[in-house]
Amino acid sequence: MLEDRQSIVIEEYLQEIFLLCSGEKPVKAVHLAARLQATPSTVHATLSRMQRDNLVEIDKKKKITLTAAGEEQAKDLVVRHHLAENFLCNVLGIPWYQVHKHAHRLEHAMSPLVAEKLAEFLKHPQFCPHGVPLEGYSAEFLKNSFPLEKGKVGMQIKIVMIDETLEESEELLKHLHDKSVIPGKKHTITEKLDVTHSLTLESELGLTTIPFDIARKIRVTQI
Ligand SMILES: [Zn+2]
Ligand SMILES: [Zn+2]
Repeated sequence: MLEDRQSIVIEEYLQEIFLLCSGEKPVKAVHLAARLQATPSTVHATLSRMQRDNLVEIDKKKKITLTAAGEEQAKDLVVRHHLAENFLCNVLGIPWYQVHKHAHRLEHAMSPLVAEKLAEFLKHPQFCPHGVPLEGYSAEFLKNSFPLEKGKVGMQIKIVMIDETLEESEELLKHLHDKSVIPGKKHTITEKLDVTHSLTLESELGLTTIPFDIARKIRVTQI
């Protein structure tokens, strides 16, 4: 049982490091502690174990990177997570803004065979319900979309993706849902204010103000 619990923890760390590595800043133990709501000593102990198992490397500046083996496991987990989200949303009918936390529980219980069969059953989806590519961000995906924060006033945009790190807050996703900030929906950027660090979107449902730090994690295309 202890072994099981530990492997779940390691699976969670792998996913977090994988997600954080796709951001702009170097990944350090403090970021993990904040994201996983763990104490620095727990994070340190888990990272040492992962280093011993050759899943991560930590350099002199304390920057954490995944080894090839770690990255392979992390990608596999991310695929399982997104398959679980698609299943919960598209088959069981749970709203897209609620599936993330349930998927986090399901993904650890999914054997490779179940994951393969589920992918077949779901007809090999390319994206999760939040618009995140199943296999992680490809160069093409990143080239074809940009963070909402970079949009300009007057621009018409389509929401492409709500970042995995925003999925942790169901309240935030529900709010975005109510304001039609949903993958596939169209908006116009009507205002962008440095003084309040926010921008305003307009859709058929009216106006929504989005702070820059959230807008940075929403990817869009110009239409
Ligand atoms: Zn998710
Ligand atoms: Zn998702």
